[in-house]
Amino acid sequence: MNQLAEQPVHALITGGAGFIGSHLAHFLLEKGQHVHIVDDLSTGSITNLDELRKNPNFGHTIADVQDEPLMAELVDRADVVYHLAAAVGVRLIVESPVRTIETNIGCTEVILRLANKKRKKVVVASTSEVYGKNDSVPFLEDHDLVMGSTSKARWSYACSKAIDEFLALAYHRARGLPVVVVRLFNTVGPRQTGRYGMVLPTFVRQALMGQPITVFGDGKQSRCFSYVGEVVECLYKLAHCPEAEGQVVNVGSRHEITIEDLAVLVKELTESTSEIVKISYDEAYAEGFEDMPRRIPDVSKLEGLIGKSPQMDIAEIAKSVIQHYRER
Ligand code: UDP
Repeated sequence: MNQLAEQPVHALITGGAGFIGSHLAHFLLEKGQHVHIVDDLSTGSITNLDELRKNPNFGHTIADVQDEPLMAELVDRADVVYHLAAAVGVRLIVESPVRTIETNIGCTEVILRLANKKRKKVVVASTSEVYGKNDSVPFLEDHDLVMGSTSKARWSYACSKAIDEFLALAYHRARGLPVVVVRLFNTVGPRQTGRYGMVLPTFVRQALMGQPITVFGDGKQSRCFSYVGEVVECLYKLAHCPEAEGQVVNVGSRHEITIEDLAVLVKELTESTSEIVKISYDEAYAEGFEDMPRRIPDVSKLEGLIGKSPQMDIAEIAKSVIQHYRER
């Protein structure tokens, strides 16, 4: 930890009305920081801000991150910028490739350019999607990125985030900008919406409503899910870790589960009568959709930098998501 952690810090979170952004805002406010978020509410939700707005150290602006004059002012006032604004979710990407590419690259360009003018620390959120079709798990940060054809829209997400990473690292190398690139693996928890295809909130909603639980493909594909509360703590710690500057860091859990087993787990925990059904990828997504069979992070770099990694067990995480849905 450097001194930054001990004095009041002004954090700016782009995409702060989103699932991870709003959890991060809560976490930073609890640490005594001042938090301002900017979000255009394209996928974020104003209700994610309900609790936050009661805190006098919280502020928000509903706007597009590509509004450069506005962002210049907000970046000016911040000590640390967490850049989370992005088009996320596989379904959205397949359906809106133009928006994905333009949002992901355009917003990051603006943030890095402005942060560089004032030498502000930036944490750039990237994604495990950038590993693409690489099948040598667990994924290490300097592994090759293996993308599919440009004719398949799903790869536009990974490529746009890879460009974001290149740009962030270029600013660090060429201009000395203090940046950290974090590759987020499957992050789940309360308030995540299943609207854009995310599997855990989708399964929980289906199970609670007695609808079929839809497993795509053969269900043998696996993921490592981490609890959002632990993920945002990692983001905070990386932002305040000088050794992390100029680094790409995986943030995820080591605990692997197949999607089929996840469906069974959700069904059991909710005591649901829903049946678990298999749906082909062609039916679930666009034709020719390529899914990742396994997605496992190597988190030794993260642990070396901040001394921890997300540990919460998937059953505990699923319980918290179920409770959240029941309360709604
Ligand atoms: N998935 C599924 N049923 C659903 C939604 C997703 O079986 O209703 C699968 C999806 O095909 C993928 C896994 O669950 O293999 C994780 O999907 P998600 O979109 O949550 O994350 P990502 O694909 O980015 O890892």
